Amino acid sequence: MNAAPLFEESGQFDGAVVATEDVTESIRAEEALRRSEVMLKSIIESSPSAVIVITPEATIVDGNPRSLDMYGAVSKDELIGRNGFDLIVPRDVEQARDVLAQALATGVARHAELTIRRSDGTEFLGDFSLGVIPNASGEPSSLVVIVDDITERKRMETALRESEGRFRGVFDNAVLGLYRTTPDGRILMANPSLVRMLGYASFEELAEINVKQGGHADGSSRSQFESLIESEGEVAGIESAWRRRDGTTLFVRETARAIRDEQGQTLYYEGTVEDVSERTKAERALEESQAKLQSVFDSSPYAITVTDLAGTIVECNQAALDIHGADSKDELIGLSGHLLTADASLPESQKGMAQAIEEGIVRGREYTLLRRDATAFPAEVSASVIRDRSGRAAGLVVIAVDITERKEAEEALRRSEKKYRELYEGSRDAVAAVDMNGRFIESNAVFRAMLGYSQEDLVGLTYEDVTPAKWHAEEARICQEQVLTRGYSDIYEKEYIRKDGAVFPIELRSYLRRNESGHPTGMWAFIRDITDRQHAEAQAQEHLAELTRAWHANTLGEMASGLAHELNQPLCAILNYSSGCLRMTRRTDFSVDVVRDSIEKIVGQAERAADIIKRIRSLVGKHEPCRATVDLNAVIGDAIDMIRGDAERQHVALVAELARDLPAIRGDAVEIEQVVLNLARNAIEAMSDPKVAERRFTVSTSLTADQMIEVAVADSGCGFSADLAEKIFDSFFTTRNQGLGVGLSLSRRIVEAHGGRLWAESDGVSGATFRFTLPASGVDHGHRAPRSLRRG
Ligand code: ADP
Repeated sequence: MNAAPLFEESGQFDGAVVATEDVTESIRAEEALRRSEVMLKSIIESSPSAVIVITPEATIVDGNPRSLDMYGAVSKDELIGRNGFDLIVPRDVEQARDVLAQALATGVARHAELTIRRSDGTEFLGDFSLGVIPNASGEPSSLVVIVDDITERKRMETALRESEGRFRGVFDNAVLGLYRTTPDGRILMANPSLVRMLGYASFEELAEINVKQGGHADGSSRSQFESLIESEGEVAGIESAWRRRDGTTLFVRETARAIRDEQGQTLYYEGTVEDVSERTKAERALEESQAKLQSVFDSSPYAITVTDLAGTIVECNQAALDIHGADSKDELIGLSGHLLTADASLPESQKGMAQAIEEGIVRGREYTLLRRDATAFPAEVSASVIRDRSGRAAGLVVIAVDITERKEAEEALRRSEKKYRELYEGSRDAVAAVDMNGRFIESNAVFRAMLGYSQEDLVGLTYEDVTPAKWHAEEARICQEQVLTRGYSDIYEKEYIRKDGAVFPIELRSYLRRNESGHPTGMWAFIRDITDRQHAEAQAQEHLAELTRAWHANTLGEMASGLAHELNQPLCAILNYSSGCLRMTRRTDFSVDVVRDSIEKIVGQAERAADIIKRIRSLVGKHEPCRATVDLNAVIGDAIDMIRGDAERQHVALVAELARDLPAIRGDAVEIEQVVLNLARNAIEAMSDPKVAERRFTVSTSLTADQMIEVAVADSGCGFSADLAEKIFDSFFTTRNQGLGVGLSLSRRIVEAHGGRLWAESDGVSGATFRFTLPASGVDHGHRAPRSLRRG
């Protein structure tokens, strides 16, 4: 709608004229001009736009028919001659003047919007474009004004803008996610809600992904979804899963439709998306928990049956089939629960049901249940009432466990308990249990008789109350160091005070009591009254001392000849030396130097004799046993010295193989030396037969694995037959004419009193070996360990 070509009503062309000399040419040009003028005029006359011609002062000089219609005029007279500004509503006149001024200044003004008041007073909005028509001198002579009524367009535009604004508001603020995607998966639009749901920062960021490739948790399911839309045109409430920016899944409910062009080609999909993650989660949790419950029900080792209020079984699990001996659920479902019990009070039975409902829950009661074959078994039954939403009882869940085995085990336990209780009560030993504070909590009849207390008397008493104070510290030590650390004590001796005040010796061993979880709860003690034994021991001790003295005396007699021989040598020597000295003193040239040497020799021989006598005295004198640290190798050395003379006379070779670095022992050196001397003399005796060719005596010491020192005395004599190996230790057993038969029995008692053992080995041909052991000092072998207590 550019400015129309220039024209005037007169048909006079007021434009540039092309001057020419050639008239023919000029006529032809005129002709052409006229034609075009006519053509223009008809275009203008029929133009759908209003075309008006005005003077630079805005006086209307012409107008086409459309302009008359637009204004509501019947003839041109109503328009021509009027000032154009009069047609403009007053509020737009100022702007109209500006538009005219602009056109006059620049030659053109386009698309000014001005409101015109029609002849009937109504108004319309016009789109004005102005073009200036200059005269020959270039001054504006008139202006062509083209006007279009744009009222309708404007209204449409406004309405459109408004509706767009409304739509935008909904789009931006909707809680639902809204989108528009292309069939190939591009996101054309997505509202902020959807952008947020999917975890993107902006629509621009989201627009980079493709719904089908990665935008959706499952691309193929998206394609299925779209083909559903394609076939249905619209789908509603479909659940689908989108993928969030962080890779997590967004569960949504989607409603979507396809927007198609006229040919039915899909342009895009539009949809709404509702975030149902939370709901889906809750639904899934419910599903899972139901599945869990179901699997618990199915795999439970407990028989579970569900009954209705009438006691009819409506559901049961495999374990229920098992304990009732049914093959399939059909056998139980529909059955009246009380047919499964011999007990009228079972929850399934009517009476039991009423009770269960009243109590709400039944826990672990024992009932006798029935199998399908009517055999009975004991069961532990729990039941709880099922209630409907309104809280009314609807049925029961009954859980049963077959306790046949448990019952049997309990019975076995009861029997064994009874057995042990009988043993305990019937025990020869006193047995008592105390708690961690030492208070008596249990005791058998022997214990009570021993102390003269009744069961009631013992309540509240501790073991210290019945023990003389001098034992308390030692006993506390034993508890601490032995019972609490390794669970039991050595057998030890102490005393008890009877109810009547009498004190008597006992021997006991304590054990730690523990509960099932292993925590100490107290102690057991097994106790024996040793009054009689101690008495017997004292007597035996006395007897041993007597015997030892007798033995010493006898040994002395036996040794007298040997000793006479021993002493004879130094005495003869002394006699010789002193006679010599005496002779020399009678000589005139006597000098002290000459006799000094002889006197020194006399002193030496006299000392040797004194030594021999000292030993004899030590053997003969009445000797109190004592306990001191003893070096066993040294004692053996002394004993060998004692028999050396004897051995030489009998042509016996003496061999000593003594282990180095032996630990010391505790004991009586004289007693042990006597044991060695006795074994040695027996050995020499056994080799005295002239038929014995090789005469060899070996004494050796060694340390055993259990920290005992072992002494072996071996000879190459006649030996003894196997059946005599023990007999020779009997008192007064002898095979020798001069024998007394007490040597070996005494030796064994001495060794045992030291916590050791003495035994003999022989093949009856190539000699005998006697061995004895003694505990290394500081090592407790449990043998007679209480001796130290007895003294304390
Ligand atoms: P006695 O030596 O007075 O007979 P013992 O008690 O010392 O008393 O010895 C008892 C018996 O044991 C001896 O009579 C002898 O038969 C046997 N006997 C002891 N030592 C040996 C030995 N080394 N070899 C063979 N028999 C022995």
